Amino acid sequence: MPDVVVVGGGPVGIFAAILLAQEGVDVQVLERRTARSSHSRAIGIHPPALAALEQAEVADRLIAEGVKIPGGVARSRGRTVAELSFASLPGRHPFVLAIPQEQTERILSGRLAELAPDALRRGETVEAIHDVGTQVLTVTSGGTHRSRLVIGADGARSTVRDAAGIRAGIRPYRDAYVMGDFPDNTGDGSTAALYLEPDGIVESFPLPGSVRRWVVRMPSLVDSPSAQTVAGLVRERTGIPVDTRNNTMLSSFAVRRRIAERFVQGRIALIGDAAHEVSPIGGQGMNLGWLDAAQLMPLVVASLGGADVGLGLRRFNSERRQAAMTAARQAHINMLLGRPLPPPVLTARNRVMGRIAAVRSVHDAVARTFTMH
Ligand SMILES: Cc1cc2nc3c(=O)[nH]c(=O)nc-3n(C[C@H](O)[C@H](O)[C@H](O)COP(=O)(O)OP(=O)(O)OC[C@H]3O[C@@H](n4cnc5c(N)ncnc54)[C@H](O)[C@@H]3O)c2cc1C
Repeated sequence: MPDVVVVGGGPVGIFAAILLAQEGVDVQVLERRTARSSHSRAIGIHPPALAALEQAEVADRLIAEGVKIPGGVARSRGRTVAELSFASLPGRHPFVLAIPQEQTERILSGRLAELAPDALRRGETVEAIHDVGTQVLTVTSGGTHRSRLVIGADGARSTVRDAAGIRAGIRPYRDAYVMGDFPDNTGDGSTAALYLEPDGIVESFPLPGSVRRWVVRMPSLVDSPSAQTVAGLVRERTGIPVDTRNNTMLSSFAVRRRIAERFVQGRIALIGDAAHEVSPIGGQGMNLGWLDAAQLMPLVVASLGGADVGLGLRRFNSERRQAAMTAARQAHINMLLGRPLPPPVLTARNRVMGRIAAVRSVHDAVARTFTMH
């Protein structure tokens, strides 16, 4: 019987399993997909998460493949509104690392395979969980797995969360976005750029291989946007001609917030999107999940060794819920900043923003907030 079953082999479940395997814990990851998802989602890794990833010995591998974003610029109708530098951030990583989630997951899975080659079991869909006091039974399409503890890292529609009877209210937002990856012809290099325009925000982030991700706010969800649609919107709002010929990714998404009422119940704990889904605008969801795992896994190891970790679990529950709510608030502010505004109101708002951001102490506080410090 393994000590721990992790349900979900996404970035958070795999990271949790690495931390456990490094401590000699017998861990099994049950993942319903037979292959890694190529659907593009997270690109931004923040400094506190990089510090946590160092514990798993993957930070250097990620840094070697990613782009270090040293700061950003906000523009509006051809003018610079404000500039933000991460140079003053504390710690060893004064930048946000940009790397597609698929690459991140490949690096994490590679590290887990080095430590425990058979830990990840693909093609296992978890259907039910029964906490029977001294152990937990995890029922999958392939049979029943017994373990001493179960960690639910099975994403926003978590089966583990539902099986444990943990409620998680959904708050939908009226914001929706289209996005696409295109060859970088901006001259912005590794700088992130936000275009605060009357019809809504356009965001542009560097990616490895001289690619840029463009994210455009929309009035409602657009099904299957084309490269021409995304490029047309970017050009209309910013004047920048995007080359549609070598487009490598297209997607659209609407935004919800869903935070579980508690993250621990008996022998079951939730981490990552299973515990909290926050808006991608601000790029914090995956980072939050890794920080959940970094706080929870030492408690799991101690509890398997017989220690009383009740107090630690209560702190995990309250501190990580608080962190999720802070991230959700931050993401909400980011979304508000990107909503359409009539030109005179936008100009006045941007002028105030520019003046405030030029104050050193405010600039540094904003840089820390944007990077989850
Ligand atoms: C457009 C977009 C951009 C984003 N950008 C960022 C960003 O820049 N930075 C950031 O930090 N976050 C970002 N996010 C959020 C980030 O993608 C998620 O927070 C992250 O994927 C959560 O990881 P996870 O491992 O908790 O869940 P998931 O990635 O959802 O993984 C869960 C895994 O569990 C598996 N699973 C589900 N149910 C079962 C079951 N019953 N049995 C077995 N396996 C199961 C799934 O197949 C999946 O592999 C973005 C999201 C989107 C949509």
